[in-house]
Amino acid sequence: MTLSLVVPCFNESLCVRRFWEAVQALGLPLGLEFIFVDDGSSDGTLAALRELAREDATVHYVSFSRNFGKESALLAGLRKTTGDLVVTLDVDLQHPVALLPEMVRLLQFGEWDCVAARRTNRKGEPWLRSQCAKAFYGVLNRFSEVRMRGGETDYRMMKRQVVEAVLALPEVNRFTKGIYAWVGFRTKWLEFENVARAAGETKWSFWGLVRYSVQGLSAFSTAPLQLASVSGITACVAALVYLVYVIFKTLVVGEPVSGYPTQICLILFLGGFQLFVIGILGTYLAKTYLESKHRPLYLVKEEK
Ligand code: UDP
Ligand code: MG
Repeated sequence: MTLSLVVPCFNESLCVRRFWEAVQALGLPLGLEFIFVDDGSSDGTLAALRELAREDATVHYVSFSRNFGKESALLAGLRKTTGDLVVTLDVDLQHPVALLPEMVRLLQFGEWDCVAARRTNRKGEPWLRSQCAKAFYGVLNRFSEVRMRGGETDYRMMKRQVVEAVLALPEVNRFTKGIYAWVGFRTKWLEFENVARAAGETKWSFWGLVRYSVQGLSAFSTAPLQLASVSGITACVAALVYLVYVIFKTLVVGEPVSGYPTQICLILFLGGFQLFVIGILGTYLAKTYLESKHRPLYLVKEEK
């Protein structure tokens, strides 16, 4: 049996070797295949990978022509795997490699197709970021057909069959966590405590995460589109009721002041609301546009 490790790296020259050593030190009872994906790093990550690949024949790498994002890196890595078991994890050792033996055991001897890890805490993360993440999963679970728990990470080991299922999905807007939930299979959840990065800095900015959430929501839910029509109808009904009230009031007590303030309020409200709805439509239109272009999700510059 072979285990393929898919490891996305973006400017991680400090972590690559440390990661490799940490995995070797586990002495796992099966063959290993390392697949590092250099996601367009501008530091010495590629050099570090080349060196590692020269020393160890089980080390392979794919290097992108520019930064295409972690989702693309995971996809490229998965496509290159040949192992019976495949695990995706971060190179910064925030996904504890100590869980690997247990994961292998569960898949080899258990009834499971997939073992996923979730964080029990978000220690060392800014407060605002944790709250936003919580809100995001709340909204996603409420409005989409797939179920996701908070604290879910990209640390996941699966059997070949699951990898093939994930790779068979042709969509361009890839939101891997949603894809895993969508393909199903029997998934065992393990928990771990969040730890600080081994070295270097996080590659996610706040706005990067906001974009990631919009991506995730619109890839797995069409509820925002319905939200648009539901609130549109609500606003119209409210406007009608108000109209009846105004007519009634004018007939009974008369209308001494011209309805200037109400008009402004209504115009602003409806104008804003229309823009909001158009924005939602635009988001989905953009997705359709991107899907229909059939562009590749990454370009490979060098691989081994
Ligand atoms: N990563 C990547 N491409 C990117 C951003 C991140 O391949 O555009 C990799 C990064 O090298 C790391 C993993 O994704 O192995 C997780 O990134 P990071 O540790 O910066 O995120 P955090 O743990 O802070 O959520
Ligand atoms: Mg990290």
